Amino acid sequence: MSKIVGLLRRRPVVSPELLTLIVSISFTLFYNATFWEKVFELHSPYLPGSWLTLIGYGVLMTLIQYVVFMLFATRYTAKPVLVVLILVAASVSYFTATYHTYFDTTMVVNTLQTDTREAGELLTVGFFKHLLIFGILPIVVLLRLKVSRNRWKVALIRKVAYFSGGIVLLIGSALLIYQSVSSEMRNNPEMRYLLTPGNYVVSLARVLTANENNHLEKKIPLSTEATYVGDAKPKLIVMVVGETVSAANWGLNGYDRQTTPELAKRDLVNYPDVNSCGTSTAVSVPCMFSPWGRDDYDGSAIEQHESLLDVLKLAGFDVLWIDNQSGCKGVCDRVTSIKTDSSKLQSGCTQGECFDDALREALVERTKDLKRNTFVVLHEMGNHGPSYYKRYPKAYEKFTPVCREDDLSQCDTQSIKNAYDNAILYNDHVLSGMIDYLAKQNTVDATLLYASDHGESLGENGVYLHGLPYLIAPDEQTHVPMIWWLSKSILRDEGIDYSCIQSKAKSHHSHANLFHTILGLAQIKTDVYDPSLDMAASCQSS
Ligand SMILES: [Zn+2]
Repeated sequence: MSKIVGLLRRRPVVSPELLTLIVSISFTLFYNATFWEKVFELHSPYLPGSWLTLIGYGVLMTLIQYVVFMLFATRYTAKPVLVVLILVAASVSYFTATYHTYFDTTMVVNTLQTDTREAGELLTVGFFKHLLIFGILPIVVLLRLKVSRNRWKVALIRKVAYFSGGIVLLIGSALLIYQSVSSEMRNNPEMRYLLTPGNYVVSLARVLTANENNHLEKKIPLSTEATYVGDAKPKLIVMVVGETVSAANWGLNGYDRQTTPELAKRDLVNYPDVNSCGTSTAVSVPCMFSPWGRDDYDGSAIEQHESLLDVLKLAGFDVLWIDNQSGCKGVCDRVTSIKTDSSKLQSGCTQGECFDDALREALVERTKDLKRNTFVVLHEMGNHGPSYYKRYPKAYEKFTPVCREDDLSQCDTQSIKNAYDNAILYNDHVLSGMIDYLAKQNTVDATLLYASDHGESLGENGVYLHGLPYLIAPDEQTHVPMIWWLSKSILRDEGIDYSCIQSKAKSHHSHANLFHTILGLAQIKTDVYDPSLDMAASCQSS
């Protein structure tokens, strides 16, 4: 007994270099399951010829981490640096393994923009269990160890020796498997976003440096001239930005469940084949209000420029953004914006979260007796995951049983799908209510466009949620619903042939159409307008 106590009391002494090596090896072996799965797909461990490559991958990964971490690990800093890295690795590896999340710069932006409410749904019991095993326990062990002290000269010589040794081994192992690694990384560039914790650390550094540049500059206007050239009634153009609705689950697209029964009864245009600009809110929302779509996507151009809202404002429109989610991602910075829960008007709001019908109520309240051209964006909570069951009032729980866990891995696929489809059913009710309200307005030329920002994976091939790099993202994440409702008077006043619009709706469309269609509808003359992307332009008589 006394021997055991003695053993526990003894605190082994390790050098910062050895400590760093142990942590690097642990990261390679225990925090990168999803990365290894991908590598095993390329090199089956059952084939003897693969072993050299697999070992090469492991050695290379370990050495890259070792060499980089060692730069920051002195006798004083080794412990704090490694503690932070272990916490990052433990958190990141949970999401990579559970939801197949790739931590590229976009995903890091998503994590930084997540508000506490959204984060709360992701921090599940499963997450904390994982954090305990892969984060807290290793940290407790690490803190028990003693870091050896040497005179600074000895310490420096040691560090240089270990560092150079690491570099030599790194180059050696890189040369050994260079051919297969380089071609695989070229063909599967997204794999590097699975490498934990380097993926998060590198992407975070890139986001922080990029943001600094973008914040320094004043936003560049998209156009210096924008003139309203219409002469009919004031316009009321409503753009509803949907959240996380996949085209595959959209009743109007022929989904085997009728998830849009109310919209199906209304006279509107449905677009069955629409591609989103991104697979996350942070990419898609700014893109939907920019002239650059997915084909000529340029994230930094979008970030550096003003948005569609500024062009409309320049042309004299009243512009209003009403948000029922985590904000407009910079799109509405220079126009009036309000949050649903800031008003006492809306029903269905508890603890800072409102059902989306609050957006309809806010729209009604804000657009009474309009005298001026007005553009309103309604940003929905939509099908925001993983807690789909929280997105609709009880009355819309038609498909049962539903998954009531924030941790989707605790539910079967069918109950996840049921909760997800119920949220769409509620969204159908919300959109229909907005259309009914607009249809009653005779003093304005009203229209409503709805598009979801991106779709969602519901467990197909083990993939959940969204945010995969676009190139490898499945259709469920990139294919979104879009609808367009036009009042009789706007059709007449703008000379739009409705049957022409209907027949063209079947062809392929994307988020890029939104910007130009809205400028066309607003009858604004400006050089950023491209009629070839305006969904009405070729159906207009005048
Ligand atoms: Zn989104």
